[in-house]
Amino acid sequence: MEGLMMQYPLTLTMILEHGYRIHPTKQIVSILPDKRRHQYTFADLYKRSKRLAHALRHQLGLGKGDMVGTYAWNHHQHLEMYFGIPASGAICHTINIRLSATQTEFIVNHAEDKYIFIDATLVPQFEKIRSALTTVRGFIVLNAPEDFTTTLHNWQHYEELLSRASEDADWSLIEEDDPCAMCYTSGTTGQPKGVLYSHRSTVLHAMSVCMPNHANVSFHDTMLIIVPQFHVMAWGFPFAGIMAGARIVFPSMHMQPESLIRIILAENVNKAAAVPTIWLGVYAALKSGGIKSIPLKELIVGGAAVPPNLIENFQQEFNITVVHSWGMTETSPVVTMGRLQPEHASLSDEQKITLRARQGQPLFGTEIRIMKEDHTPAPWDGITPGEVQVRGAWVIESYYQVKSRDNFTEDGWFRTGDVATMDPQGYMQITDRTKDLIKSGGEWISSVALELSIMTHPKVREASVIAIPDDKWLERPLACVVLKDPEEIISHQELTEFLTPHFAKFQIPDQLRILLEIPKTSVGKFDKKEMRRLYAEGKL
Ligand code: ADP
Repeated sequence: MEGLMMQYPLTLTMILEHGYRIHPTKQIVSILPDKRRHQYTFADLYKRSKRLAHALRHQLGLGKGDMVGTYAWNHHQHLEMYFGIPASGAICHTINIRLSATQTEFIVNHAEDKYIFIDATLVPQFEKIRSALTTVRGFIVLNAPEDFTTTLHNWQHYEELLSRASEDADWSLIEEDDPCAMCYTSGTTGQPKGVLYSHRSTVLHAMSVCMPNHANVSFHDTMLIIVPQFHVMAWGFPFAGIMAGARIVFPSMHMQPESLIRIILAENVNKAAAVPTIWLGVYAALKSGGIKSIPLKELIVGGAAVPPNLIENFQQEFNITVVHSWGMTETSPVVTMGRLQPEHASLSDEQKITLRARQGQPLFGTEIRIMKEDHTPAPWDGITPGEVQVRGAWVIESYYQVKSRDNFTEDGWFRTGDVATMDPQGYMQITDRTKDLIKSGGEWISSVALELSIMTHPKVREASVIAIPDDKWLERPLACVVLKDPEEIISHQELTEFLTPHFAKFQIPDQLRILLEIPKTSVGKFDKKEMRRLYAEGKL
């Protein structure tokens, strides 16, 4: 209609252009796989992303809609792919490097990847499956030493590809509803499924993530992006960072707690994003290393429930605020984030921790409803649980080339498979995944609530609770723990006494297993499917 605003496409190139024009000297630091520190600016990122887009079109012959796989650590080259691949019209398909060979083969063939950009240290994993790949024409190898060789077909060095390309790639052909990236779910509860992000959904997600109520990303920040770039676009933080002019630091493969602490101290990192297991490790390393202060001010933590005592310990001992976040591959991923508001100032410390341990409020741009088993919406009373259903500007409409509509409601909501309560202020609390719920004698038991409570026991480092079959009650909870000190055993009776004030009798696990390690998924979460399998085979 005449007299209306401009139609201004929301594309990833818009983020890149903005970063280049407004924050050209901002730094991106990568600690590369060989431990070399690499540093360059947003202007360098811009120019090299343009070269990459040019190379894809003019050297590799790729165009709109072609799928290009990445199999890489977190670093500046991977960031160039985040921008350069979509800028050429192709789709940046980030492949999870921790999946099994069978799953990787399935994903690459299903996505029909034409080329794979791969870190030299990860090449051996791909050599194992190369003969089964049906669509891959060749490989571009990153960070390879000079004497590098491989059995992969048709490979070349990334830097050589870029050196032959021109900086004047034309990205006018991209539209905001074009796909820009693809990520497969990690298959925790089934076969991996492809989720295709659009330019528009990715830009809107990053803008919302930046907002002060959410991750509060700005040009004051130095952000360490620990969450892998192969996992849901590193939660959109690279895009948020460039958009906001934040200084960005990537650790590549150096994700052990001691390495992360070294990077945080050396680069003066004030904000970082990763799953709880990473922060449990960092906290333990800070304590054992006798480190009393660290530049970190805020941790964005999600992917699994954050133990309340971790929130409390970071706050009290290091003055670091944990911002709890929830989301999924299917939701780009961030849907909720939890911050306290002015009216919470009068709460007791304990009440504040309880509130911050909730997964938080929906971001602007998304909506959540909690559906009861009878398919009616649960009230937002903080008590009534139901399935979390989501819709919004960065929520999946259908899986990539999957016909089944099982995960979608007829009225257009995505069914997450998570179970939660919502309080009157819209703070959500995840109590379980529908597949992990324990139904004992007709009553639900929240495995997450038990785990979080058990993890506050001074002898326990990690805890995971699964349902095991029971003749009388159909299912009963089984607790598995990893001890902080293997010498300091915890007995079942001790655990029962510890849980009794907080849980009904029937909810308390009647068996306890002490493990050296809890099986983890490819993205570092407790692998309950694997634990149930081990239990069934008598191996737990
Ligand atoms: P996968 O489904 O393979 O685990 P995702 O990374 O997409 O891969 O995982 C999304 C799931 O992780 C959510 O459905 C939820 O069960 C869990 N999750 C994510 N964030 C949180 C959180 N803050 N608290 C509890 N669970 C979480």
